[in-house]
Amino acid sequence: MTAVTLVDIGANLAHDSFDADRPAVLERARAAGVAAMIVTGSSLDDTENAIALARRHPQVLRATAGVHPHHAAGFPDIDAGRLAAILADPMVVAAGECGLDYFRNFSPPAEQRRAFELQLRLAAAAGKPLFLHQREAHADFIAMLRAHPQLAARGVLHCFTGGAAELEDCLALGLSVGITGWICDERRGQALREATPRVPIERLMIETDAPYLLPRTLRPKPAHRRNEPAFLPAVLVEAARCRSEPPEALAAATTGNACRFFGLTLARGAGTGSPGTLILV
Ligand SMILES: [Zn+2]
Repeated sequence: MTAVTLVDIGANLAHDSFDADRPAVLERARAAGVAAMIVTGSSLDDTENAIALARRHPQVLRATAGVHPHHAAGFPDIDAGRLAAILADPMVVAAGECGLDYFRNFSPPAEQRRAFELQLRLAAAAGKPLFLHQREAHADFIAMLRAHPQLAARGVLHCFTGGAAELEDCLALGLSVGITGWICDERRGQALREATPRVPIERLMIETDAPYLLPRTLRPKPAHRRNEPAFLPAVLVEAARCRSEPPEALAAATTGNACRFFGLTLARGAGTGSPGTLILV
């Protein structure tokens, strides 16, 4: 594969597993062709950390602002004003991650739906696209988004792991999908591997979801289980293989999609970093 430029649309870089070596993680990402990363905000505190991190590295990072369904029960209405203010921050390029997760029901489903609905309204008011999370809650998730068709058309379902039928529902709403290293798992990722070729190329983006979901195809296998944005090319290569497309073409398409979707501009950085390197402007 020749040199590519990638955007990691979902990396939990405020996670404490990166506390010891965050600058080196960003450096390795750049060296691997990952020109920009979007730091996922999954609670109000986590979002504020993500924004602070993006402010320290504005040439490579932006953030999302939201409350993950696991934290829905701890998100009283009174915090909506705080989130509305955070969503207005220019470093925030999407509302989320928000959505529904019935896998372990860390928050009761009714609380999850309340927090999701609240965030849909805040996203609409802020005019920002949606960064969505869904696990084992497909029917309720689709039903809630159907009530907000214009918003849904500006949404990306991150870490899509479903099969063809779930994909059809998402595409009908106008959603884009984010593909993670789940696709690199021969066994667990089988439905996703079959569904990925059905995603219209203009609706596809890639992400690591670091530090989670270490791609199983990495060789040599890293010494520890932590995923990081420098491993995004493994996701690209596997997605391209499933789609029978050259990875370079899929890189160009997914990077273009991410820039359009999140309103990012990548340009040659004059006087910053090594000449010819693309940076966020
Ligand atoms: Zn998620």
